[in-house]
Formats: sequence, C-alpha cells, structure tokens
Amino acid sequence: MTVAYISHSDCGRHDTGWGAPEHVGRLRAITSALKYDLELFGAMHHVEGRHATAEELALAHDARYIRAIHDLAARGGGRLDADTVASEGSWAAATAAAGCVLDGVDLAFAAQPMRAFCAVRPPGHHALRDAAMGFCLFGNVAVAAHYARKKHGAERVLIVDWDVHHGNGTQALVEDEPGIHFVSMHQWPWYPGTGEASDRGRGNVWNIPMPPGLPPAAYVDALERGIDDATRAFTPDLVLVSAGFDCLRGDPLGGFTLEPEDLAAVTRRLVARANDWCGGRVVSALEGGYAVDRVAQGVLAHLHALGAT
Ligand SMILES: [Zn+2]
Repeated sequence: MTVAYISHSDCGRHDTGWGAPEHVGRLRAITSALKYDLELFGAMHHVEGRHATAEELALAHDARYIRAIHDLAARGGGRLDADTVASEGSWAAATAAAGCVLDGVDLAFAAQPMRAFCAVRPPGHHALRDAAMGFCLFGNVAVAAHYARKKHGAERVLIVDWDVHHGNGTQALVEDEPGIHFVSMHQWPWYPGTGEASDRGRGNVWNIPMPPGLPPAAYVDALERGIDDATRAFTPDLVLVSAGFDCLRGDPLGGFTLEPEDLAAVTRRLVARANDWCGGRVVSALEGGYAVDRVAQGVLAHLHALGAT
C-alpha cells in the first residue's frame, strides 16, 4: 500500500448552510467508513495538508478574485452564485482544499508515496479564473497541474475528470497550456451546459458527453477511450484525477449508473498506465458526490485500487 490520504480539518469550515447538497457530512462519511476498514486505514500514509498560498492560487486565478474571496470570508461570507456561498471559514477551507492537492503533488514527486487521495472540500472543477461557480471556489486540480509544471518541472500533466458534471472550470484554467491534457466524461446535456465533444479547447481537451442511464460498462469504456486518445504521443509525468462520486448510481445530482467497483477498475487501469508513464504518480482529489453513503463506498473502492501495485 503506497497511498497518502491527505485532508485538513479546515475543509469542514466551509459552511454552505442547511440543506445544501455540498456539506461537511460528505467528508465525515468518508472518515466514518474508513474506521470500518481498519486494514485500509492502517495501510495509508495519513497527512494533514497545508494551505495553498495566494501566489500558488494565482497560477490559475486572478489575484483580484483571490483577494475578493479572502475579503468576503473575512467579512463573514456571502453568496457567490446561484448555488455557491462563502462563509467565514471558507477562505481557510478553500485554501486547505487546494493546498492538500499541492501536497499530494509534492509527495508524488518525492515518491513519498507516489499516489495520494485528497479528501477535500469545497470542490474545484467548476471554479473559473475570476469567479466561483457550482459549489467551487478555487480550481484545486487545475492549480495543482500548473504547480506541478512550475515547481517540479513536469512537462506533461494528464487530468482525468469523471465527475458527472463537465469540468468547465478546469478546462478554462488549463486549455491554454498544451502541456496539460484534460479528459472529462460527464452527463450531457446537464449542468453546467458545456462540454460538447466538439469543444476541444486548444486541442488539449477531450470532452466525453454521455446520456444518463446507460449500463456502467458504456461509461467505463468511453472514459478509457478518452484516456487513450489524450495520451497518444503524450506521456504524462503526473496524472491528476478529479474524482467526483456523483457519477455513481443513486446520486441526486446525476443519472450515471456506475458502481464503486467500476471506479475501482478504472483506477486500477489508470495506476497501471501511470506505472508505465511516470513511475505511478497519481494524485486524486474529491470533487462532487452527494449521496454521502455512496461517496464513502466509492472513495474506499478508489483508495483500495490506488494502493494496488
Ligand atoms: Zn459534479
């Protein structure tokens, strides 16, 4: 077992209010489930992540927007878009969410260990350069991709996003960088309305729009074809995963039919490819997933698969 489990208690301080689908109980469900899998719990390398700095966030976001989030939280919070809020603790939470993923990258490049899962919130893949969107404040994974290039000299970074929603924010934050390839499989048409197959960014984006209700194998096959296409003549130095567990059957915000074992199978094959590409560097970060018991089951299956050698 060679997986870091990275989290930060501040991720619980992003208070979205009563009844919000994205709430701290999502993380608590994962922690609770881990206590019933003592073998997995004991085998992982537990890390309390750090806070990303404003300079690190500026790898993907406008300095003025970063400052605005800081100041809004300092004033006690407020609404950012139709379904995104900040509370007093949201600056600490959002910088911790991004910082945990940066720590995962640092660990991967130091082989301590090569793979990590970051149990973080708020999620990140809808956040834009200068705006919050869809429960997301900062593009945790997009920031990490740019960070890996700048800090560790990674020339090629692959991002795989299997959240049921299009990673429109990640696409916006990486599509000008040909050294980053982005694969997003998502329900379509669906929130946020983007991510058609013809939208290729600058040629470094592979969008895989899918209807709801197909057999799980259809999603698995489509995603793996997308990964094949994105890595033709492109050998990643690092694989980042936007692990949204709202692609599981039963999620209230999605209509995909995947089961935890399907994500485990995808993860195992991605680890095998990463072993060939880059010594197995895979850093995965929690995105969506709103049926909390399913999120916990999905994360545990994903963790087992990340740890398989
Ligand atoms: Zn989602």
